[in-house]
Amino acid sequence: MNLRWSAEDEAFRQEAREWLTDKLAGEFAIVRGRGGPGDEHALFDERHSWERALGAAGWTCVAWPEEYGGRGLSLTQQVIFYEEYARAQGPGRVGLVGEGLLGPTIIHFGTEDQKQRFLPPIATGDELWCQGYSEPDAGSDLANVATRAELDGDEWVIHGQKVWTSLAHWADWCFVLCRTDRDAPKHKGISYLLVPMRQDGIDIRPIRQVTGTSEFNEVFFEGARTAATNVVGAVNDGWKVAMGTLAFERGALTLGQQLNFENELTAIREVATKTGRVEDPLVRQRLADATIGLRIMRFNALRALGPLARAEMTPLTAVHKLYWATVHRSLGELAMDVLGTDAEIGEQAPYELTAFQRMFLYTRADTIYGGSNEIQRNIIGERVLGLPKEPA
Ligand SMILES: Cc1cc2nc3c(=O)[nH]c(=O)nc-3n(C[C@H](O)[C@H](O)[C@H](O)COP(=O)(O)OP(=O)(O)OC[C@H]3O[C@@H](n4cnc5c(N)ncnc54)[C@H](O)[C@@H]3O)c2cc1C
Repeated sequence: MNLRWSAEDEAFRQEAREWLTDKLAGEFAIVRGRGGPGDEHALFDERHSWERALGAAGWTCVAWPEEYGGRGLSLTQQVIFYEEYARAQGPGRVGLVGEGLLGPTIIHFGTEDQKQRFLPPIATGDELWCQGYSEPDAGSDLANVATRAELDGDEWVIHGQKVWTSLAHWADWCFVLCRTDRDAPKHKGISYLLVPMRQDGIDIRPIRQVTGTSEFNEVFFEGARTAATNVVGAVNDGWKVAMGTLAFERGALTLGQQLNFENELTAIREVATKTGRVEDPLVRQRLADATIGLRIMRFNALRALGPLARAEMTPLTAVHKLYWATVHRSLGELAMDVLGTDAEIGEQAPYELTAFQRMFLYTRADTIYGGSNEIQRNIIGERVLGLPKEPA
């Protein structure tokens, strides 16, 4: 990939920078820098308005084809947009699951009708999505999903339980992995259903997290319904589609994320300078390591873009996920260490965490969601290094 900027790219950068700077200094100043990891609960209505404003100006789903509400940007210009978004401290996006996970999945595996129905409202910010994969007995071993769906006339009827469902309380729709053939081998009888969240058959219960807030939920399906046509890919062939979504989750989605991590590192460096901890050779070494780590993460994300455009989960995706999650977790630890004993003090009584504390706590989750570090190591061991397979 050629990442030198042409005159056209530079003009595009200028356009994006001006729009973002203007809006985030003006009517949307309140959401600037808010809603990131550990802060997802903050200013939801305001960030939803921001999502709609971004959509109206054509700044959501910039990679998607224009006919479905995207902007059809080249890879280079996508990178530029993510860079400018992070530079402007754009807020955490409430539409991220729709834009980054479900949208690309429908573009690759969906029917034309599904593209027409589901993609434009994601681009305008009018419909938000959540991911219904994990269950109490299906996390790393995702093929173990037991939530079942049965056809009743022209509708699926769903029973079962999902867990750790991020942002389910705000979502209009959920993509749900369901068992649709109980007699088939584990990976074969699964379908990928699109299910409206606002209906009587769905009960959402928040889970309180270590940050004190509830970003994720338990979701109970008790006779929930969706149209028979709302299945992505063939019935009972949802595993392939589910893996496509995971490739998107583990891959380029992190390109923008990495630039936010750069902002965090800058803040850590400033605190280290202010507190004098930067004089400590060990702290200096860790700051240098973090800088190098983020640079490598960027190259990994760029390398992942090619296979990702084909919705492929390659061993590279596992290397990338393992690497960025570990780098970010170390960054959270570094943030605490440069604060020293001040790391123990909250923002205000009774329990308001500082941005660094939120970041530290949330980074503990990075090595779990989207596939844990141990699972990525297994994939690398088996598929890259050719080590013996894990016993079934
Ligand atoms: C912040 C956050 C947000 C999330 N959001 C969502 C969401 O929106 N939707 C959703 O569906 N899920 C979501 N998840 C769930 C996430 O995908 C699972 O937590 C993850 O897949 C691990 O599954 P588990 O929690 O069931 O752990 P388990 O699979 O039970 O694993 C427990 C431990 O055992 C290890 N382990 C398991 N199997 C192996 C093995 N074969 N070899 C070596 N070690 C192994 C794991 O690495 C882990 O350390 C989220 C999780 C977090 C933390």
